[in-house]
Amino acid sequence: MLTALTPQAPDKILALMAAFKQDTRADKIDLGVGVYKDATGLTPVMRAVKAAERQLVETQDTKVYTGLAGDPAFADALSTLVLGEDRPRDRLAAVATPGGTGAIRQGLELIRMAAPEATVWLSNPTWPNHPAIIDYLGMPSSSYRYFDTATGGVDFDGMMSDLEGVAPGDAVILHGCCHNPTGANLTLDQWGEVAALLERRGAVPFIDIAYQGFGDGVEADAAGTRAMIAAVPEAIIAASCSKNFGIYRERTGLLMAAAPSAERLAVTQGAMATLNRLNFSFPPDHGARVVTMILTDDALRADWLAELEDVRLGMLTLREALAAALRDRVGSDRFGFLAAHRGMFSRLGASPEQVEAMRRDHGVYMVGDSRMNIAGLNERTVPMLADAIVAAGV
Ligand code: PMP
Repeated sequence: MLTALTPQAPDKILALMAAFKQDTRADKIDLGVGVYKDATGLTPVMRAVKAAERQLVETQDTKVYTGLAGDPAFADALSTLVLGEDRPRDRLAAVATPGGTGAIRQGLELIRMAAPEATVWLSNPTWPNHPAIIDYLGMPSSSYRYFDTATGGVDFDGMMSDLEGVAPGDAVILHGCCHNPTGANLTLDQWGEVAALLERRGAVPFIDIAYQGFGDGVEADAAGTRAMIAAVPEAIIAASCSKNFGIYRERTGLLMAAAPSAERLAVTQGAMATLNRLNFSFPPDHGARVVTMILTDDALRADWLAELEDVRLGMLTLREALAAALRDRVGSDRFGFLAAHRGMFSRLGASPEQVEAMRRDHGVYMVGDSRMNIAGLNERTVPMLADAIVAAGV
């Protein structure tokens, strides 16, 4: 039976990581994989996470199963972080999941369970795992224009015009903040316009929020998501704690669904719990518990917010330094969009040949579509990258 399996296409980002490891050049720069790194290239355990874990080791007296939805305290704490105190509690279903990917997978399964014919709309481009999971689940999908290569910003007219094609009951995946891979984001006014369109068309927003706190701040990064929830009767939200708590390997995420009414809450929650049961039974608890402890303890929360703010400002400083270095070299603000982008990623707008030339001639590793992980830079490598970009003729 297993002889029927065919080789899977290699993951491009993992292949890039392997090539980077093998490169013996001392001055190589890794802008590939989507993991935050500090100026020394490390992905540290955050102070509040360490402190909460220490406390947990001392105080946890059982590791018996939680519930299919995970610990309700986690759902409460994380849904408040994402959706704010004003969230629609009386109709908000939530289940813990293995990471943001788990939340996306479960959210898509929820859509398929409720409406197998629904088309799922994706931004072009988007995080490649979105279409990969949708295709694997055999769900119909379509895409909407999103990125304007000429300006490095959002092609908002194109996006709105394409979204006019959504049918009632379709789902539209939106990145809550820090769009991956482009770094270009909707303004709050634009969120309002998209919300009005989806509400008018009867489509359901599915918001993937994986970088809250990496863009304009914890509250500002959630503003679009909150505006959307306030405007539409139904919404699905997949939240990840991998990046903003730095707990990538703990697999901590939350799937939320705003049901159309309080009467529909129990059925929605039941469907989500059943999907957990069918896929993995109980969700992982360690990361979720650590996040709950941090969010519900004033001192831990303040320390986490402070460290997260340092991370965010560090990336902004690198963005500004790179844009300035390029301004010096090309004599125009052609690369100003790099400073306007938010989050860990920016799409540079280089051709695959230029991306390859930067790798070959300068040891600069970025994804083939010219997505750069800004956190892979530091003060020393910013000018090196600027030189490589100019030399490659971007
Ligand atoms: N959504 C987006 C857009 C992402 O970039 C990521 C991480 N690469 C995720 C979701 C999920 O992250 P995780 O499963 O590690 O929580």
